[in-house]
Parts: sequence; C-alpha cells; structure tokens
Amino acid sequence: MADCIVVGGGVIGLLTARRLFLEGVDVLLLEKGPLGGESSWAGGGIISPLYPWRYDDAVNVLAQRSKKIYPELTEELFEETGKDSELVNSGLLTVADEQSEIFDWAKNWSVDAHFVSGTDSIREIESTVGIAVDRGIWMPDIMQVRNPRFVAALKASFERLAIPYIEHCEVEEILTKNNIVSAVRTKQRTYAAAKIIIASGAWSAQFSITKSSVSVIPVKGQMIMYRGEPDRVKRIVLSEGHYIIPRKDGRILAGSTLEKIGFDKTISSSAYDELHQAAIELVPLLDGLAVERQWAGLRPGTERGIPYICKHDDVAGLYIHAGHFRNGIVLGAASAELMADIVLGRKPWCDTAPYAMQAIH
Ligand SMILES: Cc1cc2nc3c(=O)[nH]c(=O)nc-3n(C[C@H](O)[C@H](O)[C@H](O)COP(=O)(O)OP(=O)(O)OC[C@H]3O[C@@H](n4cnc5c(N)ncnc54)[C@H](O)[C@@H]3O)c2cc1C
Repeated sequence: MADCIVVGGGVIGLLTARRLFLEGVDVLLLEKGPLGGESSWAGGGIISPLYPWRYDDAVNVLAQRSKKIYPELTEELFEETGKDSELVNSGLLTVADEQSEIFDWAKNWSVDAHFVSGTDSIREIESTVGIAVDRGIWMPDIMQVRNPRFVAALKASFERLAIPYIEHCEVEEILTKNNIVSAVRTKQRTYAAAKIIIASGAWSAQFSITKSSVSVIPVKGQMIMYRGEPDRVKRIVLSEGHYIIPRKDGRILAGSTLEKIGFDKTISSSAYDELHQAAIELVPLLDGLAVERQWAGLRPGTERGIPYICKHDDVAGLYIHAGHFRNGIVLGAASAELMADIVLGRKPWCDTAPYAMQAIH
C-alpha cells in the first residue's frame, strides 16, 4: 500500500509525484501510456503564458514562481541524470497593442517588458533573420524548455531516485468507502492508498467520482516543425495567437491551433496551411525550410485557464491536480509545490482559494 497514488504521468503528475517523494511520501505513479507521452510531450515549452496580462492573477502567481524554480530544477535534473531539458533564455517578442494594460501588468509582477518599434529596434532583438513585424512588446527574460527532453529528464530522475511508477497501467476506477478513498482499480490489479491525486490531464473528468464535479475538456493543439540551422532564429515571436519557437539544434516550431472537438488527435492539412502561413508571415525565411513533422496534443482545458489544485469537496483523501490548459509547463513547477503543501496539510506557499473546485466551476 502506498501513502499516495498519482493518476497520470504528464508533467503535472511527474512533478507532483517527484516533489512528494522528495518530501518523504511513499508515492506510486500510474500512467496509462508511456510517461509524458501526451500533452506534455506535444507542447511548446514556453515558460510564460501567451499574453499573460490577459490572465487572472491566479495564473500569474504560479507562472512567476515557476520562472524562479526552472533554472534550479533543470540544473538539478541534469546533475541527477545527465539529461538536458534545454532550458534556453530566448526572450519573447509579442505583437500586441494593449500598451497601458501590459505596462501595469509588467510593473505589478516586476517583469522586464518594453515596447519596441521600427526595423532597427527589431533587428537589435533578432539580428540574423528578418522578423516581419514592425512593433511589439519585448520581454528579454522569457525562457523555454524542450518538452520531449524535459519529460525524458523527469523520467530519468524517477529511475535515478527509484520513485515508483508503472507505465501502460490505466486506472479504470477510483474506489471509495463511505466517501473516503481506499484504492484504484486497474486492469492488472487493485492498488490501495490513503490519498489519490488525479493528474490525468485532459482525461481528468473521466472517473465516475469526477464526472459531474470536475470540468476539464480536451482542447486540441497542432504544431509543425521546420528543420533549420542552429542560431539562425533565436527569439520566440508571437502574433495573433501564432508563434514560432526556435530550438537549440536549429529546429523551429510553429504553433498552434485551438480546437474543441473532443478526444481527437488527428492532424489536418488545414491546420498545416494555417500554421505555415502564419509562420512565414512572421519569419519569411521559414518558407525555404522543410517541414519535418506535424503533430497534435490535447490540452487539459478549463474555462479561464485556472487549474484545479485542491482536495475533492466530497471525497476525503482525493485530490485534483489538473486543468492547466495552455500553461502546464510554465505553471507546473509551482503548481506541484502547492499540491504538495495541500496533500501534506501544511501552510501553502500561496492562497489556495482560486484553485478550489467551487472556484473553477
Ligand atoms: C500544441 C501545444 C502547445 C503547448 N504549448 C505550451 C507552452 O508553450 N507552455 C506551456 O506551459 N504549456 C503549453 N502547452 C500546454 C501543456 O502542454 C499542458 O498544459 C500540460 O502538458 C498538461 O500536463 P498534464 O500532465 O496535466 O497533462 P498530460 O501531459 O496530457 O498528462 C496526463 C497524463 O494522464 C494520463 N492518463 C489519463 N487517464 C489516465 C488513467 N485513467 N490512468 C492512468 N493514466 C492516465 C495520460 O495518458 C497522460 O499521460 C501546450 C500544449 C499543446 C498541445
């Protein structure tokens, strides 16, 4: 019997189980596929919400804390495992016009953000290629991780620290007695635990216990990836919801779509056209590069993008850690700390009220 079972091995489940394990909890993580094989693999890895000034403080408070955690966390993972999450300080140039709102937000959260305009200023930011925008908000401190590398480093950390996990093990039911959790049932067997955390991403409302009480829906996002050369494109650029993210080895991601069509991960030629068109409008040089791959992932969507980080209202021992929507990487590190505080019953590092079941509904 484990003290605590985590259901789902995306970044949210991985970071939560690792945090609890490091705090001395006897934890077991169960994942229906390979670790980190869903949204956490598919995402862009920008360590900032897109247009963060449009989000509630509840999102910004987690994002700002995570930004501080990431350098240390990725360094720790590298030292433990030798795996590089490719944390890179790319900076983010966003085309947006809400200047006073942006500057209020930047002042409030002590973020370095300034308005740039004119070809020369843009060229100072991205010197080697043409970015076809003439103005924007430049945030030089925005970082990224490379998702598949980050989840590989987390998986290696589980191996290195001997954190118990089982892949290809789908939880079919959460068992309770008198409204207290007792175990999870999988195809293979039943695992008993006093505490169970649902960290099942877009699938978090699947259990009969959560069907009416947790509203998380899948929101499909498609991406394409170009094969480029290292250091040709250096900055993350965002305009009208479309962005490009340059990776260390020269590959360049262009994303992403937002599609509410259920649990469907097929890729489409219309998304390809949309993403390619938007990408070459931002960086015309991309038109000459080969598109190596296209993929889709299912974000765990909540209405305002605020995640559940809470106890279940009606079932003792049950916790929900899900619904990070477009920001599971950036929010994940801080969110896992908060979930650990709640599970361990100690004073949380921030106000938990915005992440409670009633608040999200
Ligand atoms: C195209 C795209 C771009 C993105 N870009 C960014 C970005 O730049 N920055 C950012 O912060 N975020 C980004 N995101 C969002 C981010 O990827 C997600 O918010 C995050 O990965 C959610 O993590 P998760 O662990 O909750 O979900 P997931 O990674 O989906 O993990 C949930 C896991 O639970 C498992 N599971 C489900 N049901 C069961 C069950 N019954 N039993 C056992 N296991 C189960 C699933 O198999 C899955 O592995 C992006 C997402 C997409 C799709």
